[in-house]
Amino acid sequence: MINSFRTLKRLTATIWRNAASLIPWAKSLQQSTTTPARLPPSKKHRPDFLAVQVRSRSQQMTKNDRSLSSQDDPPPSAARSALMARVHSRDTRPEKIVRKAVHGLGFRYRLHRKDLPGTPDLTFPRLRRVIFVHGCFWHRHQNCPKATTPRTRYDFWQGKFDANTKRDRRAIRALKAHGWKPLVVWECETSASKTTKLRLKLQRFLAEG
Ligand SMILES: [Zn+2]
Repeated sequence: MINSFRTLKRLTATIWRNAASLIPWAKSLQQSTTTPARLPPSKKHRPDFLAVQVRSRSQQMTKNDRSLSSQDDPPPSAARSALMARVHSRDTRPEKIVRKAVHGLGFRYRLHRKDLPGTPDLTFPRLRRVIFVHGCFWHRHQNCPKATTPRTRYDFWQGKFDANTKRDRRAIRALKAHGWKPLVVWECETSASKTTKLRLKLQRFLAEG
């Protein structure tokens, strides 16, 4: 009985391998189903046909998670999301620099938690701390040469800047009210010449009691 099960397993694996080499889409399917990062560590070395089951279950979970979070956040209007996309663009160079520095200091974080005010760029749930990485131009870094104001359409720009800074202040206030400690890292603080200073700032913020 056990022997025949093993034979069946081997046979399935062989068929699967051959199918993958013959049909291009099967190959891509096979690759996607065996991505180790997607699987829990203990299930990393399972045969392919088991990996498919595991993955489909984890896909189910992320689908549920997504529907839960979308219930919490009302869908933004098209105009608003276009503005937000510009103001709060993700994975910017300064953001990546901050992430790398924080990671190097040994802290682990969550990215862009939508359930928190202002969707902080980095969240440290156990420390109850968040970090915003702000672009100096859009978020109006005071006394910073990067926070220029375009010469034309002054009112238009001023209106946008006011809305952004107001939103930032509101997010910080709401976070503090809920017991979170926020830190703003400005784009100009992430330049290559200020690496040591930035690391110190981050360390001080994350390590202090
Ligand atoms: Zn700046």
